[in-house]
Amino acid sequence: MDESVCDALSKACSECHLEGGCCFEARPPLSQERIEILQKNGVSPESFEFAGYKRLRLRQDGFCVLFRNGKCSIHTIKPETCVAGPFTFDISGDFLQIFIKRESICPMVRFLKANRKVYDALFEAAVQCIIDLVAAVPPDEMAEIIKIDEPETDLVARIKLEDCKPCALK
Ligand code: SF4
Repeated sequence: MDESVCDALSKACSECHLEGGCCFEARPPLSQERIEILQKNGVSPESFEFAGYKRLRLRQDGFCVLFRNGKCSIHTIKPETCVAGPFTFDISGDFLQIFIKRESICPMVRFLKANRKVYDALFEAAVQCIIDLVAAVPPDEMAEIIKIDEPETDLVARIKLEDCKPCALK
């Protein structure tokens, strides 16, 4: 991605009025494959927990256990839902639903809506990450994940599950 676009996205994130932004009270879900990637890169087993599904733990102060010195310590290998933000998802019947956070809770969304090309690139990457996650997580764990409420979001796409092709199978 263009450096000026990355700078603009970082600036939008730095304007976030939510305490700690996306990494505060964030417990991103994990596939077994993601856990193995994280462990190979030095993330300790104590960073993970199981609560109906595998996920990253929170620290005592409410931040994700991998949030360090004001940023994500595993940026290049972070979990799928972290890459996908500000897009989120749900599964309804035979459809994967993609939502975007409202501008009121994510300043990046205003920037994205004003920059269609960037929006489209991030949307495409987010959808692929979410499809890969849905394919990699056992159905009983995914059933727990989709119970998580995602308030202040708007539906932007519905994709038939049968049309969702995980990366490795493409
Ligand atoms: S993995 Fe990184 S981006 Fe995701 S919540 Fe944790 S610190 Fe934030």
